[in-house]
Amino acid sequence: MHQTDRRAVVLGAGIAGLLAARVVSDAYGRVTVVERDPLPRAAESRRGVPQGRHAHLLLPGGTQILDGLFPGLLDHLAATGVPVVRDFAEFWLAPGGGRPLSVRGPAADPFLCQAGRPTLEQHVRDRVCALPNVTVADRCDATGLTADPERRRVTGVRVRRATGGEETTIDADLVVDATGRGSRAPAWLEALGYDQPRQERLAVNLTYLTRHLRIPPGTLTAKVAGVGAEPGRPSGFILLAQENDRWILTVFGYDGHHPVRDTAGMLATVRAAAPEHLYAAVRDAEPLDDIVAYRFPANIRRRYDRLRRFPDGFLVLGDAIGSTNPVYALGMSTAAMEAVALRDALTTGDRGLPLRFFRAAATPLGRAWQATVGGDLGLPAVHAPRPPAVRVAGRYAARALRAASRDQVVAGQFLRVGSLQDPAARMFRPAIAIRVLRHGRAGQ
Ligand SMILES: Cc1cc2nc3c(=O)[nH]c(=O)nc-3n(C[C@H](O)[C@H](O)[C@H](O)COP(=O)(O)OP(=O)(O)OC[C@H]3O[C@@H](n4cnc5c(N)ncnc54)[C@H](O)[C@@H]3O)c2cc1C
Repeated sequence: MHQTDRRAVVLGAGIAGLLAARVVSDAYGRVTVVERDPLPRAAESRRGVPQGRHAHLLLPGGTQILDGLFPGLLDHLAATGVPVVRDFAEFWLAPGGGRPLSVRGPAADPFLCQAGRPTLEQHVRDRVCALPNVTVADRCDATGLTADPERRRVTGVRVRRATGGEETTIDADLVVDATGRGSRAPAWLEALGYDQPRQERLAVNLTYLTRHLRIPPGTLTAKVAGVGAEPGRPSGFILLAQENDRWILTVFGYDGHHPVRDTAGMLATVRAAAPEHLYAAVRDAEPLDDIVAYRFPANIRRRYDRLRRFPDGFLVLGDAIGSTNPVYALGMSTAAMEAVALRDALTTGDRGLPLRFFRAAATPLGRAWQATVGGDLGLPAVHAPRPPAVRVAGRYAARALRAASRDQVVAGQFLRVGSLQDPAARMFRPAIAIRVLRHGRAGQ
């Protein structure tokens, strides 16, 4: 239902904001994206997205949605040198430590997109900016909401331009907050007389270290390689081929196991986790830049889906409703699935839109939450109570991961769950459970 006379404003031009702008542009006559940063013309890191300097892997749930929202995007990225993995011969991942997932052959659809985060954002931004009804206002800080006198409906957003001057208001029929983890929407809602959403939180105290490398062509057959944390070694790494013949290496460690921020520290983290051929490739690689660090304190989820009252004309999406441990590489795919939930919610008009959207978005976000928090609770380095059901699920997950390194059927199902395409319950189907029990014994 396209409403030509109506205007939507999206706050934040990160991946979630851009995808929201794309779907909202089908339903609203005018869409304005408000972004605090000056937006670069080229693919460059920027202040508002500090995580953009670290390895970003777009998993199949996300690649397929992006290719649907922007037809031809993945082919275009691949043509410009971005590795798009479509064959498991190029894939070497051991998410639970130990042996890699047992997967072979071509994937049914484009599987992984390994554009550097600034490159991906730039290509998506270019596509969104090319939409005739979308404009981007950068250097513009969203500072609060405006509402009707009864405070039942949000009527716009207050903004302050980086160039200074007074706050101004942009009137809108719909305001979408995609300002990321630091979103001020809870305080804005409270100022309008609404409850703040309850926040769920699991502290992980994770440190990321990243640098780009040159690895001579032919050294590795895999374009993506990595080893996840395991209970006795709560650290790991991911190594991704990227555009411009560069690789990006990110190492990480949980609480008390943070990698040391120098070349030797990064190598030591890789050595502790990697098989010899991967370690040798990293050791012999040419470093291309300085090491950058990022600290990720906690998984957080804001339960907007549980609120009873919410003003019309306002939504929150992306990291602003849930920000999960980056080790699981789910944030962009979750944002893409939330954008699809928003597109679907808009097809039935804007009556009750916010709560309908939050409930629909709770499915992908709930899957991401279950995957990350479930995985993190399997690590003793993550300090939190573990009720009996969590301990049982954790033991099953460990066994499933071992089975996935030996059995293609389990590995395939694990990948679909791990990339949000299927609910976690699929891992418990009898056909999978039998294989998990058979192939997942320790020490086989
Ligand atoms: C270290 C790290 C590694 C990651 N790796 C992966 C990965 O491999 N795969 C994956 O799928 N996900 C990964 N993620 C998650 C991913 O980056 C995010 O989940 C995803 O990009 C969605 O973010 P977002 O657009 O909601 O928020 P953000 O990326 O934080 O963007 C928010 C935007 O809003 C702007 N903004 C903020 N406040 C205001 C304001 N008041 N007014 C106007 N503009 C404002 C900011 O400048 C920014 O542009 C990783 C995250 C981290 C931290």
